[in-house]
Amino acid sequence: MSTPHAAANTSASARPSLVVVGNGMAAMRTVEELLKLAPELYDITVFGAEPHGNYNRILLSPVLAGDKSIDDIMLNTPQWYTRHGITLHAGDPVEAIDRKQRVVRARSGICVPYDRLLLATGSKPFIIPVPGHDLPGVIAFRDIQDVHQMLEAARQHRHAVVIGGGLLGLEAANGLLRQGMQVTVVHVAGSLMNQQLDQPAAALLKQALEARGLRFLLNAETAAISGEARVQAVHFKDGSSIPADLVVMTAGVRPNIQLAQSAGLHCERAIVVDDTLQTYDPRVYAVGECVQHRRATFGLVAPIWEQARVAAAHLAGAGHRRYVQQATATKLKVTGVDLYSAGDFIGDAESEDLVLRDPRRGVYKRLILKGSQLIGAVLYGDVKDGPWYFELIQQRTDIAAIRHKLVFGQALCMPAAA
Ligand SMILES: Cc1cc2nc3c(=O)[nH]c(=O)nc-3n(C[C@H](O)[C@H](O)[C@H](O)COP(=O)(O)OP(=O)(O)OC[C@H]3O[C@@H](n4cnc5c(N)ncnc54)[C@H](O)[C@@H]3O)c2cc1C
Repeated sequence: MSTPHAAANTSASARPSLVVVGNGMAAMRTVEELLKLAPELYDITVFGAEPHGNYNRILLSPVLAGDKSIDDIMLNTPQWYTRHGITLHAGDPVEAIDRKQRVVRARSGICVPYDRLLLATGSKPFIIPVPGHDLPGVIAFRDIQDVHQMLEAARQHRHAVVIGGGLLGLEAANGLLRQGMQVTVVHVAGSLMNQQLDQPAAALLKQALEARGLRFLLNAETAAISGEARVQAVHFKDGSSIPADLVVMTAGVRPNIQLAQSAGLHCERAIVVDDTLQTYDPRVYAVGECVQHRRATFGLVAPIWEQARVAAAHLAGAGHRRYVQQATATKLKVTGVDLYSAGDFIGDAESEDLVLRDPRRGVYKRLILKGSQLIGAVLYGDVKDGPWYFELIQQRTDIAAIRHKLVFGQALCMPAAA
């Protein structure tokens, strides 16, 4: 690797150098945890492909909906990095890692040597490779730039099509609707949020979103996108089509592992790490959506926060922690729609369901039990017990004694605690 110019902080510092690739949620949470444990241990350099400080990606949905501003969602401003003596290269992605020389090279040509390297490159949105997917006006929903593009489109155009009826797609659709667009959500499966919800809850959700003005095309397979200077229509395999001035693809993400792969790090679906978040190279750690731990990959922040704690402890030299996968919970961030899903919501031949339906109140609750343990929960309309059920799932609590009233919630099961 050629070394056009070395970065300023590669001088004769006595401290080892930690280079962080990615300036997103996993990376900076790990750095924050590390600063708590060993603030003086490393000279830290962070490279970020995006031209900003670190922000709360989760809150892009409320920004799109007009409930928050970009300033509201900033987590670490450039001043924060300066205050902690961290060198930030924002808008300058790392393009190569030379593991023999232990140096990274960024697009600008800056090269920084490392003693420890932390990879946190996140995911890339999956763009369905149908004809027309590269037309102007076809975008993903992952970063600030995407949100700017959506807001711009909402000012100038009318018809939005969101491809993908999962969590992200519905949040995008809701935001675009709030910005005054006419929005159709196209989903290949027969029910919305099929990764998180069972069908009765998905049907209630669809009804509620239709009442707000969203349109849905379920069991719809996109065949092509067409337009001249900009996208104009989306076409389906059954021969039908709908007008579109903006197409937002929310059909899943893929771990961003190109850099790690080209550096010869062992990757399968993502960068393979052990229980300490170390890759196959002991000097290189990885956290977040770019990692694979025991076959699992990740798409929510709760497990990533735990990875950050474990990786930071090992980087700090206090390496007693081990990363253990836990059940996860999700909530839809659409104001006025209460939805909560946790753990295994499908179950199997050995599991049992407890269901409560109250159509008039628009409430649906389904609890999935295995033996005397709660393993999953889907709540719609009344989600206040979500965190409690989630705790019962995580703690593997024996619920035999409260099984008969479990579906009525914590207040009836444990009046003193609620
Ligand atoms: C709109 C939206 C809403 C969401 N809502 C929720 C929610 O409600 N709950 C939840 O738990 N999760 C939610 N998520 C998911 C959550 O945001 C992610 O799980 C989390 O951001 C993953 O963190 P990460 O650091 O692995 O990846 P990211 O936050 O994506 O950070 C990776 C960073 O690395 C940068 N990068 C990539 N390659 C390089 C390189 N070579 N050099 C330098 N930098 C590079 C990228 O530009 C990016 O900034 C949401 C995501 C989106 C997009």
